[in-house]
Amino acid sequence: MAVLSHLHQLFNTEQCQAYIHTLRWKDRPLQCPRCQSHHIGHWGTYQYRPGCKRYWCHSGKRTFNDLTDTLLHQSKRPLAYWILATFLLCLACSSRRIAREVGVHVRTSYRWCWWLRNAALSYKMQRQVEGTVEADEFYHTAGHKGQAKHGGKKDLGRRARGRRKKREPGRGHYDKDRPAIIAWVSRQGSVVVHTVKDFTVKTVQQAADLAVQAGSRLYTNSASSYRALQGYVHEFVNHTKKEYARGEVHENRAECLFSLLKPYLRVFRGISKINLPGYVGFFQFLRNFRHQNAFAQAEMILQAALDPAIARRARQGEFVTCFDHFDPLQTAIN
Ligand SMILES: [Zn+2]
Repeated sequence: MAVLSHLHQLFNTEQCQAYIHTLRWKDRPLQCPRCQSHHIGHWGTYQYRPGCKRYWCHSGKRTFNDLTDTLLHQSKRPLAYWILATFLLCLACSSRRIAREVGVHVRTSYRWCWWLRNAALSYKMQRQVEGTVEADEFYHTAGHKGQAKHGGKKDLGRRARGRRKKREPGRGHYDKDRPAIIAWVSRQGSVVVHTVKDFTVKTVQQAADLAVQAGSRLYTNSASSYRALQGYVHEFVNHTKKEYARGEVHENRAECLFSLLKPYLRVFRGISKINLPGYVGFFQFLRNFRHQNAFAQAEMILQAALDPAIARRARQGEFVTCFDHFDPLQTAIN
């Protein structure tokens, strides 16, 4: 029998509160989240939440505190739960794992995980890679996990995918439950990973326009969709002729990225194609801030989560920007 059941029991409540207070107001002026007024006075603390500061807004004649209108607002769980959950999320834990480690219900942790992932995605808006860029694609099986309306099993209209069952031949497609994932990897370090419905010339051109700065040098494999790309200095290697590198023309970094993305996605044991862009987007966040440790990454996410404007959009899942650029279907999903 363990002495303590959960790690966060060692956390000091007031220290967590002071940490969150610092994160919330570090780069922002102390202002009312409702009317943005700076005419603020102190208004004591809470008995049930030691250390949580309360303020009085002279314009709106209402009080607010460090958590008002953030992602953590109105959560009944202590801050230590949130801090630990965010940390575990950055270590690529599944929401079930986090539920067990933190001691909350799986549905609670599932909701937290998506809110926090979405808050992390606020960092990648309009990211473009430049310089020398490698691109590669692969197809990931993604079905209807968790999409049954009232819980339980949903009739799939097909036979279950057997293990080791041979896939349908040919390229994957969203409608065949195998959407494409395209990685744009800059040799200067940053990456953009897109989830797209298909791999047509039009889709790839749209994805490239979003991800890669015009005029960049682009190295890919010999797929015809890349060869039709316009606006880049393009060279390719021909894998069918067993050519994997020709001088500095190769896409080994992009392939390496997939060797990291595949085991990252495996943790979740099957992914719904609706959630795939969110998981891939969060992987992109982790990858782009890989020089920081998991706690520093968690701090970035918490800081975003404490911004009322980001929190509102993160709850709605507005930062996931993948299929929607390529197809109106995403609006129906949201
Ligand atoms: Zn106010």
